[in-house]
Amino acid sequence: MPIDATLPYDESNIFARILRGELPCKKVYEDDHALAFHDINPQAPQHILVIPKGAYVSWDDFSARAEDAEIAGFVRAVGHVAREAGLVTDGYRLLANIGRESGQEVPHLHVHIFAGRPLGPMLA
Ligand code: 5GP
Repeated sequence: MPIDATLPYDESNIFARILRGELPCKKVYEDDHALAFHDINPQAPQHILVIPKGAYVSWDDFSARAEDAEIAGFVRAVGHVAREAGLVTDGYRLLANIGRESGQEVPHLHVHIFAGRPLGPMLA
């Protein structure tokens, strides 16, 4: 069920539990601001999720409330993960769902990194 991105942060969401180490993940990268791990149900040969360590429901919440250092750290982490995975030469796609009509299912901000095949039209 897509989430309502205007609701307060829910500490029991799956990605909060991964951040607390209560659930496992296939970790790709971690630093002070971000954690990156493989999506459990990949939609492309490479499908990595990057999440901020802070408690933010969505990109909307993050861009409104996060400190500049958190935003800079998170944006740099996304770029770092893509570069380290060798995705820049052939290209990749970033995607963040925000709220009901986007289909966002996990109420903790996550940026999807898709790569490894031609990705087709944007909204297909
Ligand atoms: P959304 O639709 O919210 O943008 O994307 C949520 C993503 O999280 C989906 O691609 C889904 O496969 C992934 N996902 C859901 N639960 C888990 C989990 O427990 N572990 C991992 N690694 N990915 C998950």
